[in-house]
Amino acid sequence: MLDGVLAPAPHDISQADASPVQATATRSTCPYCGVGCGVIASPGAKDVVGDPAHPANFARLCSKGSALGETLGLDGRLLYPMRRQADGGLAQVNWDAALDEAAEGFRRVVDRHGPEAVAVYLSGQLLTEDYYVANKLMKGFIGSANVDTNSRLCMASTVAGHKRAFGADVVPGSYEDLDEADLIVLVGSNAAWCHPVLFQRIMRNKEERGAKLVVIDTRRTVTAESADLFLQIAPGGDQALFCSLLVYLDKFGALDADYIRQYTTGFESVLTAARNIAPSIEATAMSTQLREVDIAAFFELFARTTRTVTAFSQGVNQSAQGTDKVNAIINCHLATGRIGKPGASPFSLTGQPNAMGGREVGGLANSLAAHMGFDAGSVDRVRRFWNAPRMAKREGLKAVQMFDAIARGEIKALWVVGTNPSASLPNANAARAALAKLELFIVSDNVMSNDTINGGAHLLLPAQAWGEKSGTVTNSERRISRQRAFLPAPGETRPDWAIFSDVARRMGFAGFDFRSSADVFREHAALSAFENKGARAFNIGGLARLSDAEYDAFEPTQWPIHAGERIGRERLFAQGGFFSPDRRGKFIAPAKPGLATKLTEDFPLRLNTGRIRDQWHTMTRTGLSPRLARHLAEPFVELGASDAERFGVEHGGFARVATPYGDCVLRAVVTDRQPAGHIFAPIHWTDETAAHARIGALVAPFVDPFSGQPEAKATPAIVTPLRFARQGFFLSRKPMALPRDVWWTRVAVADGFGYRVASDLKDDDWAALIRAAAASDDVIELIDETRNLFSGAAFVDERAMLIWSLAPLSPSWDLALELFSLERLDRSERLSILSGRSGRQVEDDGPLVCSCFGVGQKKIEAAIAQGRRSTSDIGKAIRAGSNCGSCRPEIERLIKVSSAAGSSTNWTTTGQHA
Ligand code: SF4
Repeated sequence: MLDGVLAPAPHDISQADASPVQATATRSTCPYCGVGCGVIASPGAKDVVGDPAHPANFARLCSKGSALGETLGLDGRLLYPMRRQADGGLAQVNWDAALDEAAEGFRRVVDRHGPEAVAVYLSGQLLTEDYYVANKLMKGFIGSANVDTNSRLCMASTVAGHKRAFGADVVPGSYEDLDEADLIVLVGSNAAWCHPVLFQRIMRNKEERGAKLVVIDTRRTVTAESADLFLQIAPGGDQALFCSLLVYLDKFGALDADYIRQYTTGFESVLTAARNIAPSIEATAMSTQLREVDIAAFFELFARTTRTVTAFSQGVNQSAQGTDKVNAIINCHLATGRIGKPGASPFSLTGQPNAMGGREVGGLANSLAAHMGFDAGSVDRVRRFWNAPRMAKREGLKAVQMFDAIARGEIKALWVVGTNPSASLPNANAARAALAKLELFIVSDNVMSNDTINGGAHLLLPAQAWGEKSGTVTNSERRISRQRAFLPAPGETRPDWAIFSDVARRMGFAGFDFRSSADVFREHAALSAFENKGARAFNIGGLARLSDAEYDAFEPTQWPIHAGERIGRERLFAQGGFFSPDRRGKFIAPAKPGLATKLTEDFPLRLNTGRIRDQWHTMTRTGLSPRLARHLAEPFVELGASDAERFGVEHGGFARVATPYGDCVLRAVVTDRQPAGHIFAPIHWTDETAAHARIGALVAPFVDPFSGQPEAKATPAIVTPLRFARQGFFLSRKPMALPRDVWWTRVAVADGFGYRVASDLKDDDWAALIRAAAASDDVIELIDETRNLFSGAAFVDERAMLIWSLAPLSPSWDLALELFSLERLDRSERLSILSGRSGRQVEDDGPLVCSCFGVGQKKIEAAIAQGRRSTSDIGKAIRAGSNCGSCRPEIERLIKVSSAAGSSTNWTTTGQHA
């Protein structure tokens, strides 16, 4: 039996923060990346713009943030609690019944199988308050630390590296350091696409102060195009490079001996280990596949530049040696005393908007709460603070282990909150199959349907979405900001913290009587200061007594914020003050570099996975914006020309990408940016948005031994060419159900649904599919058997309800999109659908580059040909790049390409214009 039942189980529902429709503009925070930009939503959220007063962005937003206003509709939203029925369908239930079922289900599993048989899987998109209550319930009252988060896939190696080096998970620097550095080294970071507003800060520093930019990456990304020095390193080479740098710094007297002596331990043994890994620049060149001259240039620049920031991201973290890579970087900063000083620091760029907040409350299975661990003292301290009846006494299962335990039948009840592990976990097919074994499978989410929910979730709990919920998030520089509600909560949606509180109360636990997110935040802040006495870095005791009004008005602030303070500290560790038992920073010796997997004859390529500029994670929000969809509309695999030739894949054609874990069918994009033997595919498409493009299904599940983070960037793979008899598109007013033998991807378009398709379907089958979708007698159609073309449209009251075009090579849909947007089509416009020609001016602008102003590659190339040779000139002439700046690196690349005679690279296209 569960012990510690401290209160009768009440059956009322928490009175969560009301989310009124705001009559005035509301300051909040962008829900996407870890930059954590401030936004201002106008009344009714007609407009979302950058907040000039937010220190992360000073009014700037990237393309994703700028399109937030387009993504606020209720299509596809989960608005009421739903229960799975015997026939597999979902039926609405009331909140009381849903909460009782969740509480009784968890209690039943714990009573029968023990607390380790239940688990909660959270998201870096949740607010700190949501994370706090989930963690308190599981680790303090149910007695299981099986609470993990999709942040495990994103930055867990950095957490582990920070803890080993600093004794605490602390980012020592501040965004201002990117403005003040003389050298910025980006390692495994496509910041131009993944942290665009920070990248613009870096570029401003470069332009105005002359800072140098070194980019270290396996791919020549758009970020690399802007670098003064680009090191295209072999996968797994980062440790060797930074060990070699440490050896070089020692050899050429560039160390800060005073800092090493006063504030650190372990330098000598780590230097010895580094010499073993990278005895010379020659040896480093061999192991990293870099040129000696480039390595030497980087080392020389690093050695002589005191103000150096090394910023790193997923390319470092998503590795089976990610923690060692993080420490190899930190070693160089500790050795030069370049830490926590203006313009000088190692700097982890966090992926998700509140991965940091999740870390602060113990959202990871291997931490407890308020940055405490599972040592006996911490467990007892938290037990007393929470008055907790059943504390977890050891670490829980990390994400990949958690789903393995589900597959083995050891975890029997799972609650997934705001994330889609069936798409995003490595070996995602196995993760999805594991879900079928659960006795109780609860999902709290915003959407009715996703790959995880459709894997058989028994109970769906409708959560408030961004704009409706209220709480705090912490960005990459430790800055806590408010997310504020500016929309009414639709249907019966509720905040996640309130849902967890209600389930806890129904399980009979006291300590969950939170009335508001402010209540939760005050308790979280108080715990951070409880018996802290300077022992723990995370201390926001100064916020423990915020009034509701002060919480509402809270300005973005960096922690730590000690009791009696309201202003935090920008930087840490300039004069030591680490959080290890001896208060010293630790040098950590990395293991011998190596990848978790070997290439084979069957799988001779390395598959790298990552983000693209205009989409976020599984596209639940960004996938609603027609503007964002225009950048890279289809799931693709990018490969170099030599591999394309070797495997017979054509640019603009299709390729099957297979690994030992699964396969996908993707548009092939051939560029000069992928080194031979390496391919890249973006992570965003799921079974909701494409027929066969769930990249998580391809990724190897091997994890870092310290962080549990999977190696998502080097899975052995093979590509084979695929050809379809016809390709084309449908524009439909209604969602279409396409048969299994049609490859499709759904693309956001205004007032309807866009589908790019390809298939070997026979004519009769296409015709039947079109007849079913048209649902109208007013149809025009062209069947050109000579050219194998099929096009047409169906109308209701002169409005096009369905437009289609199918051909051996993918036809452009620009004209059709234009006609689809009209309320009525006259005769000549109808005919133009069939002819593909129109009197209307529809510019073929080429692949989209600038999302803000809808400017394509061809228009930019024309401006360059007319003599515009800088991004600002092009901005003045055709506006491209003059708003959010996310596309400026691509414009710069086009300028460079046009300057290089005979050079031709097709980067932005996904093939349909190839
Ligand atoms: Fe949002 Fe873009 Fe800012 Fe990231 S950089 S927080 S995605 S606006």
